[in-house]
Amino acid sequence: MSNPRLDWGLTQRRCQGFSKRETGGGLGRFTALWDTFQPLPLSSWQREIGGLNGGALFYPPLDHWIWLIPAFLIGACIGSFLNVVIYRVPRGMSVNEPKRSFCPNCKKPIPMWLNLPLISWLQLRGKCAECGARIAFRYFAVELLTALLFVAIWQVFPPQVVVFLWIMAALLVAITFIDAEHLIIPTSLTWAGSLVGLGACAVWPQIPVMAGVAGGWLPGLKHGGIGWLSGFVGLWLVVELGKLAFGKKKLRFEKPAGWHLREPADDTEPMCFVIDEEEIPWWDMFCRKSDRLLVEAGDIRVDGESVGGGTLIIRETEIQLPDGTQHPLAKLKSLDGTASSVVIPREAMGAGDIHLLGMIGAFFGWTGVLFSLFAGSMFAIIAALIGRIGFGRQLPFGPFLAMGAFAWAFGGWRLWAWYVDFLGPLWMP
Ligand SMILES: [Zn+2]
Repeated sequence: MSNPRLDWGLTQRRCQGFSKRETGGGLGRFTALWDTFQPLPLSSWQREIGGLNGGALFYPPLDHWIWLIPAFLIGACIGSFLNVVIYRVPRGMSVNEPKRSFCPNCKKPIPMWLNLPLISWLQLRGKCAECGARIAFRYFAVELLTALLFVAIWQVFPPQVVVFLWIMAALLVAITFIDAEHLIIPTSLTWAGSLVGLGACAVWPQIPVMAGVAGGWLPGLKHGGIGWLSGFVGLWLVVELGKLAFGKKKLRFEKPAGWHLREPADDTEPMCFVIDEEEIPWWDMFCRKSDRLLVEAGDIRVDGESVGGGTLIIRETEIQLPDGTQHPLAKLKSLDGTASSVVIPREAMGAGDIHLLGMIGAFFGWTGVLFSLFAGSMFAIIAALIGRIGFGRQLPFGPFLAMGAFAWAFGGWRLWAWYVDFLGPLWMP
């Protein structure tokens, strides 16, 4: 078993799953997966640490199951912090000020002894101790999910890269829940993630080439950088092509066309923008905070009174008149007029998704990017079919990209390795 990857301080146990060539490729690699769960003699890495203590280990070997308990507890605590991030970051609030978590309903700070991860939510049965308001199941789910991901990462990956991947998992969980609720992906999180990803590639060069053969820290960094770029460029291309296909729709009219906003008749119907007999529902136009509808109006009438012509900007919940004043839609009784042209935004994916795929590439290289994009699209289609959504209303793509990345990390790369083997040595990296 002379493998250059062993020199990177992997424990043999954890490395076997990644040894591609010496298992002869093909199905041999799949049996090697199960080898990873068999206890093996002390690795050189552990012996080194043991050596610092006169040759005796003062803690159980790192592949002992006992380590799964701290991994779970750390994950649950980080999950508890992620709940704060998920609530505060998209609302533009600081994550450390105020220090103490507070009830979203009564704003009372939550005392330390009622802020234990997992336990407190169960103990209080999902209600605020102060005002009795329901605390969403999401709080519990985020803590449990993070804890389980931390355990899985500890179990599957070599120790020196675990902290990097824990940070990645935490960021992906936060991004998933923020994108699901607000349809935005904070780029502060993806920039941080990209840097951590490149760090992971330098520390464990196997990670950007899971299905291939790793080199030293410099090639590792190179592979991470290529992955980061391919995430950016790849999805940017997809977005641009998507815009060409179904992107911004510009309608021009020979003579000024009449338009108006139509209020929904009941709760199940959307608000509509009606122009020249064409009805465009709200959810087709406004998916992200930045989306806006531009109307080059010859005349604008607010509540039946003309305010003149110019460029009218319509956002999801407010309008901006040519003079720069903003009015919430809820306060308007009616809005109509004439227009020479309108530009309707239609973006299948936002800039946030591009940043997220770049971050995934910084960890898992270009093969991970390709796989995550492909698997993520499949998950999104399945979710749309099951939830009967995605027809008209848009799904956030971030959660599915994150699922694609986890699918890659926890075994998807084996499919890739198998596929590459299948295609023949021509395709070996
Ligand atoms: Zn409360």
